[in-house]
Amino acid sequence: MNITGEMLIGQSAVKGSEGTLRAINPATNEKIGPDFGAGSTADVDRACTLAQQAFDTYRETTPDQRAQFLEDIATGILALGTALIERATQESGLPTARIEGERARTVGQLRLFAKVIRDGHHLGATLDSALPERTPPRSDLRLRKIALGPVAVFGASNFPLAFSVAGGDTAAALAAGCPVVVKAHSAHPGTSELVGRVIQQAVAACKLPEGVFSLIIGNGNVVGQALVSHPAIKAVGFTGSRQGGLALMRAAAQRREPIPVYAEMSSINPMFLLPNALAARAAQIGSAFVDSLTMGVGQFCTNPGLVIGLAGEHLAQFQEAATNALKAKAAGTMLTPGIHSAYVSGIERMGAIAGVDSVGQGLAPTGPCTAQAALFATDAATFLESEQLEEEIFGPSSLIVVCKNEEEMCAVAEHLAGQLTATLQLDAADHALAKKLLPTLERKAGRILVNGYPTGVEVSYAMVHGGPFPATSDSRSTSVGASAIDRFLRPVCYQDLPADLLPAALQDGNPLGLSRLVDGALLTP
Ligand code: NAP
Repeated sequence: MNITGEMLIGQSAVKGSEGTLRAINPATNEKIGPDFGAGSTADVDRACTLAQQAFDTYRETTPDQRAQFLEDIATGILALGTALIERATQESGLPTARIEGERARTVGQLRLFAKVIRDGHHLGATLDSALPERTPPRSDLRLRKIALGPVAVFGASNFPLAFSVAGGDTAAALAAGCPVVVKAHSAHPGTSELVGRVIQQAVAACKLPEGVFSLIIGNGNVVGQALVSHPAIKAVGFTGSRQGGLALMRAAAQRREPIPVYAEMSSINPMFLLPNALAARAAQIGSAFVDSLTMGVGQFCTNPGLVIGLAGEHLAQFQEAATNALKAKAAGTMLTPGIHSAYVSGIERMGAIAGVDSVGQGLAPTGPCTAQAALFATDAATFLESEQLEEEIFGPSSLIVVCKNEEEMCAVAEHLAGQLTATLQLDAADHALAKKLLPTLERKAGRILVNGYPTGVEVSYAMVHGGPFPATSDSRSTSVGASAIDRFLRPVCYQDLPADLLPAALQDGNPLGLSRLVDGALLTP
């Protein structure tokens, strides 16, 4: 499949007329062809109008039809073979093994959502029988969830496959029955086009309306703002910077009809070292922590950017082991020159804060966008006083906060803003302290881990990749796992509808064979 530099609007390929952009190989700082034409607001309007036109037909396709569509996309992505892997590697600087892993995750997500909609739990089918003899009488009430409407998805720089064109947000929205308009991330336009063409072909093969999918290119915020402001768009999925997420939330709130923005933004993923676990295995935790910190050059939203421990010899052993492990970690290529320079200024800022010491570094940078890992330490009093110390530095950097006692550790937990994850390293003798921390951590984080490391997010039914602000814009949702579909559905109640007007999911006799809540009892077919 050739990369042409075109956008995909419905079944058309369109060269954008608002200037050009080119991908950059961050490993060499060289531009990669071809030129991509940037889209205009008229292109956004065309894509969104097509999406609106497709919506009523697409949302009432059967779960089987949509599942087949998702499976066709998965098959098409695999059929791209090495061309996709090579292009994504060049555009992101990520190693081949990581991109192959990400492709497997992308395909796995699409297949998971195919299974989710075939099972039908997402519809939430619920029936309350009429009670005509009751005073007052109760009507026949039936609930199902329907698709929200066309969804705008912003491709993420740090997941060129799994959180981009056919990534988690797109898979969840398409599964729900929502047409999708993707804004490609300008860091990987070629990867985006390859995957976009697979989806475009699957739309045609499955005989779906062309507006089910479009892919728009552009930078300088114009296309993104136009997309979120377009009246046809009913929800937004975003992974990126806090600044970008907040800008999209503002644009969505200022519309005549405000819409939900599901933005995943910034998290420093605190890891609490409880004293007995630390006494038993400080060195082991120290080196495993550094593996997690430097994985993918620290460019994961779940990167462990904060470590909290109690002052003493065991925390010193942890720090020594982490520092030694860090010394052997090569400087890896970051995703874009912009992300690299943001990282460099972030660690310079951190190192300049009074009361913060630089305690460890990785190997020195070797190429244009390579990041030297960095470990800092401070005391709890300094941490509690400085909002700056809680800001995410996107990349392989972390801060150890040394607490005088358990009360101070609990105060640090209480002080934290919203997080995607919180980790406890603990042994059985630490359970009393863990019980003190847990109620606070539940209020702060979307996922709580014990004796693990936060990087590596399983795509499954129970996964939550979410959390209170600033981790996300809506703590009631997850962007990874089966429940991610709920973001793009809304409930409708049907009161006293004649049988032949009811949707199949709610008809007597349960023709779709769904598990349904009937008069408060879960009935499985
Ligand atoms: P970004 O700047 O937030 O951009 C992501 C996407 O949002 C791009 O498509 C961008 O479009 C669009 N966008 C941003 N601001 C916008 C605005 N005001 N109006 C309309 N659209 C807007 O994120 P990034 O490029 O991936 O990286 C920048 C920084 O984000 C990184 O240095 C890092 O700090 C952070 N980041 C965090 C995570 C995380 O998971 N926590 C992930 C990735 C990045 P344009 O191309 O038009 O600007």
